[in-house]
Amino acid sequence: MLKPASSEFKTYLETILPPAVFPEISEKYLTEPRGRYQGMAGILVAPDGTDQVSKIISAAAQATVGVIPYGGGTGLVGGQLLPTSTGEVPAPIIISLSRMRKIRSYHSEENVLVVEAGVTLAEAKAEALNVNRLFPLSLTSEGTAQIGGILATNAGGVNVLRYGMARDQVLGIEAVMADGQILKGLKRLRKDNTGYDLRHLLIGSEGTLGIITAASLKLAARPSNEGTAFLAVESPTSALELLRRAQELVGDSISAFELISAQALEFISEKFPQMRQPWPNPPEWSVLLHLGLSDSQRSEKAFDVLFERASDLIIDGIIAQSQQQSNDFWSLREAIPLANRAIGAICSFDIAVPLSEIPNFIRRAELRTKRFGKLRTNCFGHLGDGNLHYNIFPPVGASAKDYIETRDDLENELHSLVYEMGGSISAEHGVGRLKVNDLERFCDPVKMALMRTVKNALDPLGILNPGAVLRD
Ligand SMILES: Cc1cc2nc3c(=O)[nH]c(=O)nc-3n(C[C@H](O)[C@H](O)[C@H](O)COP(=O)(O)OP(=O)(O)OC[C@H]3O[C@@H](n4cnc5c(N)ncnc54)[C@H](O)[C@@H]3O)c2cc1C
Repeated sequence: MLKPASSEFKTYLETILPPAVFPEISEKYLTEPRGRYQGMAGILVAPDGTDQVSKIISAAAQATVGVIPYGGGTGLVGGQLLPTSTGEVPAPIIISLSRMRKIRSYHSEENVLVVEAGVTLAEAKAEALNVNRLFPLSLTSEGTAQIGGILATNAGGVNVLRYGMARDQVLGIEAVMADGQILKGLKRLRKDNTGYDLRHLLIGSEGTLGIITAASLKLAARPSNEGTAFLAVESPTSALELLRRAQELVGDSISAFELISAQALEFISEKFPQMRQPWPNPPEWSVLLHLGLSDSQRSEKAFDVLFERASDLIIDGIIAQSQQQSNDFWSLREAIPLANRAIGAICSFDIAVPLSEIPNFIRRAELRTKRFGKLRTNCFGHLGDGNLHYNIFPPVGASAKDYIETRDDLENELHSLVYEMGGSISAEHGVGRLKVNDLERFCDPVKMALMRTVKNALDPLGILNPGAVLRD
């Protein structure tokens, strides 16, 4: 049974840690991007080194106080706060990694950058560019999201098709475990078969198995020639076939292949009318395609050949003529979640289905949504990864609040569909607290039992991020 982070406990921490570790708690630690949860104020601690994290966790373990790791706070499933609505759960320690911001080392012959958990993704990417390399993970939240949070959630984003998820870009992890011990796993090895790979157990565990304090990141070579095209297509089926033909042409030089619905561009027009759109009337479906090619290949040439080979699929297309135009196209893609938020979704899904099932999923999801009335849908996402963000909105003139009672039924309906199609109810955002029930309902029971065994073995007192991923 966990105990609250009491003032006596704080007084004890103050005897073993310097005053800078105890900043004032502010609202940002108690809210999350979608405003679904209000967090519980406990003790906020901001250590500036792994040894301090270790002291805090040892003390928390001795006192059986819960600990919530907090990175940039951009997580979309409520994993970074303990909601007040949780009832009688005692106030936790919130451990912010934001003072752990050191770039520890760069190894040029190995293309490895070792950073602390509080370095933001944007800072890690800038550091890689400084040495003419690429850290290719790309998310709209990268200015705020931190490497620790990125790894704890195994984040995805727009470049997964080429470079993989966060876990594919890490060679080693340093972490503080639930009893305060430091796991010194900051290896820079590409081959290391010395037993269980604990790095991969910690990545994606959302702060429930250990606190990530540093990571060795794998850097990639920078493509010498890049290009972006916005292509209108008739349907998701055409988009999928376009992906196949593009892959035939340029192999894995496709770094992003994003599907965008007309509704997405219409919401942007409504909420951000100042943004320039590629078409006066948005096509039913479009694809944002990004290529990163080597010296011998030119993106203009590759796009010309693609237009020729896929003339039956591409209704209209614009190739970015400058870096500015490419940035403008990507700004539109990045504006989609912001416009969605401004319109107000009833519910949002982050699902994956086998790639070939994408058109089928979109068709069937539309039919199931229609059962709930004249709702609007905005389906967009990382088509190349089989990952869609499917968002459902009230009819024009109505408010999402009017549909609060429909939300659970809608979520059940669509998650059941995903499950029937062999998909995942959380492709890249994680489980957090938002999807704990869905996970229990839709996950293989053997996997659930094994996950509990792992949790009990690594965190027997249940102090790390209590209630996230697994029910207490
Ligand atoms: C506008 C916007 C766009 C986004 N786009 C994408 C996207 O394209 N793809 C995608 O995958 N996600 C996306 N996200 C979600 C979010 O940015 C990612 O989940 C990100 O990885 C969270 O990082 P963070 O540092 O903000 O973590 P937080 O939100 O602080 O925490 C997330 C989880 O990780 C845990 N945690 C944080 N730091 C640590 C640590 N050091 N050790 C252990 N556990 C820790 C927390 O307890 C929590 O459970 C988006 C979010 C926003 C707001």
